[in-house]
Amino acid sequence: MDVFKDAVSRLNRLGMEAGIDLEVLQTLNYPEQTVTAALPVRMDNGRTEIFVGHRCRFNSALGPTKGGIRYHPGVTVEEVQALALWMTIKCSLANIPYGGGKGGVTVDPKSLSPMELERLSRSYMRAMVDVVGPCRDIPAPDVYTNARIMGWMADEYERIKRQKEPGVITGKPIELGGSLGRDEATGRGAYLVTRQLAQKLNWNPGDIRVALQGFGNAGYHVARLLHADGYRIVAVSDSQGAIYSEKGFDVESLYKYKQEQRKLEAVYCEGSVCSLQEHQRISNEELLELDVDLLIPAALEGVINESNASRIKAPVIVEVANGPIDSGADALLEQQGIQVLPDVLANAGGVVVSYFEWVQNRQGWAWGLEQVRERLQETLAEAFDNMWQVHKDEGVPLRNAAYAVALRRISKAISSHGTQEYFQNGEG
Ligand code: GLU
Repeated sequence: MDVFKDAVSRLNRLGMEAGIDLEVLQTLNYPEQTVTAALPVRMDNGRTEIFVGHRCRFNSALGPTKGGIRYHPGVTVEEVQALALWMTIKCSLANIPYGGGKGGVTVDPKSLSPMELERLSRSYMRAMVDVVGPCRDIPAPDVYTNARIMGWMADEYERIKRQKEPGVITGKPIELGGSLGRDEATGRGAYLVTRQLAQKLNWNPGDIRVALQGFGNAGYHVARLLHADGYRIVAVSDSQGAIYSEKGFDVESLYKYKQEQRKLEAVYCEGSVCSLQEHQRISNEELLELDVDLLIPAALEGVINESNASRIKAPVIVEVANGPIDSGADALLEQQGIQVLPDVLANAGGVVVSYFEWVQNRQGWAWGLEQVRERLQETLAEAFDNMWQVHKDEGVPLRNAAYAVALRRISKAISSHGTQEYFQNGEG
C-alpha cells in the first residue's frame, strides 16, 4: 500500500472510532489541491536539468495550509500528500489557525553544488508562486531543507510580487524575519512532550536508556535536551549506520564531530580533548530492535512496519519523524503494550514556532527567545493534556486520542458551514 493510502486508511479508522461525521471524513480523504511542476535548473556545467516538485494543500478548514518542503531522492506525490494530511491533524491538535500542506522535490540535495541548490530553490518558488501566500499556503523547512533555502524562496517570492512578504514562508534566517528558537523547535517540542509523558509514567531520567534513529536537526536537539536532563543516549544513527554504547554518548561531542566529519563516529570529550569512545557499530534495523526504555525514530516514514513491529522491545516510542510507524504496525505494537507518543504531537514544536514566526512577521514585531520557548511550552502542554484526557476518558491509545481531538476540531469548523441536518430541516 502506498504511504498516502496508508495515511487515509488510518485516518478513517481512527475517525470512525472517534465518532467523526462520515461526510467530514470523506472530505479528508482527498487533498484540496496538489500541484506537480517541472523545475528547470541550469547546472554548473551549463546543462539544464529538469527536477520534479510537488506542493499539496490538503485541507484549509482551520486556516491557510501549512507545512514544510522536503528535498529527498525518495519524494513522491503520494508521500507529499500523506505528509500534508498529517500536517492537517498536527495543526488542529496544536490548536493553531492552520490547515495542512506539504511540498517536496525529488532530488538528492547532497549531489548539488550550493549554487545549483539556490537555483533549484528559486525554481521551486517560481513554479509554486500562485499556490503559496501568507494567507493561502505557507511552506517551511523539512527533511534536507533549512533556513538558507527558506530565505532564497522568500526572496524569489518577494521579487515576483514586488513587495516584502516575510509571512509567505517560515523557518527563515533571523536576519530575514525568522524567529528565535525556530531551529531547535521540533526537537525542543519533542523533549517537552516526552517530559510530560515521563511524569505520567513516573520515570527517573537516570534510569532511561534511549535509542535515537536519525541525527538531523530534530534528532540532535531532542537528544541534547534529554541528555541534559540525565537520560542515557545509548544508540544513535544517521543515514550511514548506527553506533551503540551501553555507557551512553555525549550528544554535543557527537554533533560536533558529525558537523566536522559529515558522518557519525563515537567520540568522547573531556574539556577540549576528544578521543574515540568505545562503541559497537550496528545497523539502523538493529537500532530499532534494541532492548532500550525509549525509542525515538527521527528519520523517515515507515521504518516500523508489519515486518519488524513484533521485534520492537522498547516499551515507549516517541515519533519525532513524520509517520515512522505505518498503520499496519499500530495494532501489533498495541498488542505488545508499547505506548506510542504520536508524531502529530511529538514533532509539532516546529510548526508551532513557525506559527509564532508568521505572527511576528504579520505584526512586524520580533519576540525574545524566552517568550518563544514559554509559548511553545504552553501550547504543547495544552495539546498533550487534551490528548491525555481523551486517552483516559475513552480508554484509547495516544494516537487515537490525538486524532480524536484534532478531527473533532476540524469537524466543527466544517460543520459550521452547515450539516445535512441543517439543510434538510433548517436547523442543527
Ligand atoms: N516540516 C515540519 C513538520 O513536518 C515543520 C512544518 C512547518 O513549520 O510548517 O512539522
